[in-house]
Amino acid sequence: MGKAALKNKIFDSEILDELNRCSACGTCHSVCPVYNLTGDDSLSARGRIHILKAIAEGEIDSSKVGRGIFDRCLLCYACETTCPSGVSTSKIWIKAREYFSRSIGSGVKGEALRVISKDKTLPRLMAVGQMAQRIIPGMHSREGVFRPKLADRFLLDELPNVVPAKGEKKYRVGYFVGCVSNFFLSEIGIAAIEVLSALGCEVVIPKGQVCCGAPAFNNGEMEAAQRLARRNVEVFLEAGVDYIVSADATCGGSFAHEYKQIIDSVDLYEEFASKYREIHGLILELGLEGKLKPVPAKVTYHDSCHLRHTQGVWRAPREILKTLPGVEFREMADADLCCGFGGSFSLFHGGDSTRISGDKLENAIACGAEEIAAGSPGCILKLREEAAVKNLPVKVKHTLQFVRERMDGVGH
Ligand code: SF4
Ligand code: SF4
Repeated sequence: MGKAALKNKIFDSEILDELNRCSACGTCHSVCPVYNLTGDDSLSARGRIHILKAIAEGEIDSSKVGRGIFDRCLLCYACETTCPSGVSTSKIWIKAREYFSRSIGSGVKGEALRVISKDKTLPRLMAVGQMAQRIIPGMHSREGVFRPKLADRFLLDELPNVVPAKGEKKYRVGYFVGCVSNFFLSEIGIAAIEVLSALGCEVVIPKGQVCCGAPAFNNGEMEAAQRLARRNVEVFLEAGVDYIVSADATCGGSFAHEYKQIIDSVDLYEEFASKYREIHGLILELGLEGKLKPVPAKVTYHDSCHLRHTQGVWRAPREILKTLPGVEFREMADADLCCGFGGSFSLFHGGDSTRISGDKLENAIACGAEEIAAGSPGCILKLREEAAVKNLPVKVKHTLQFVRERMDGVGH
């Protein structure tokens, strides 16, 4: 398929250039969890690009392809970081989903995303789920309709507006909680805020913050994503902070990259982006020396895709873990491959998701680790669930929880 043949107006010239950059070498096969599971080339980056080129040329009717093969993708972007030709699959996959949403509709998933992107809808739905889980025992079990278990109290409702710095104040930082930590794993947000405070940050938690918009953006629901992103940019810029941080790699990845495509004001985006700091890098800058006590643990690290592949962050979390007294660090095989969570992928492709996370847990146990550290609450939720279902002897926590456990004077 030649470059000249791609005249169709379905995709703009930027996306056509990306499609043309693919040399069909197949290097991306080895890092694609879905291809590794299925052996189906049409589910690899190479195969999907081939299909999109055929659609752009008018050789295939997109309604006959459907959006299924593009939905059965974790959006992990391992294909992008490994591609020798520099194909930006992150740009292509989102445009493809946006195209399918517009041309053939986004179905129940798109409708649900549009509804929950409205102010307060998601917290209200979660509150209903929380009540149902209280009333119906075992509802959140493996066989239950509604799992995993929601937090007893949602974190944003519980946190104060400001947590003061301990000792000399170095920075005023705005903390973005993220939906998984807010509704399910409160302990991650609490640990991150306590570590920041102990290291000299005054932590501001703007109560007007909403979902970062990644689920809507990733499914091509741009209006919903834009509404959420705009709200977050406004409330965090109003907070007058030096930096904006999050312990959720997915939300941080959105701030670092996706907001550039979503926010319609360049000035507003640049002001916001200039304040975003990846949290592990900030922790290293603040320094942990002399502030930790030993707690023995054999720990491995799972690279959350939105840290490793979206933000290029993989050294800093490992550096933190290796600094922690008592930690025996073990590197696992394929640490940089997705855990199988993939946001809505785990809901709509549960079988694939479970098999991919099973491989991740096996690799962690095989390297002799008893605990897994990760930087995304979504990965942690997924891996914890699979470990519990399979009764595997491995705990999964956020890297900052390992720091928090070792902070002298902070205690539990
Ligand atoms: S590695 Fe890159 S160039 Fe090679 S097939 Fe995959 S997307 Fe195309
Ligand atoms: S984003 Fe991940 S799952 Fe999707 S094609 Fe690339 S490597 Fe495969």
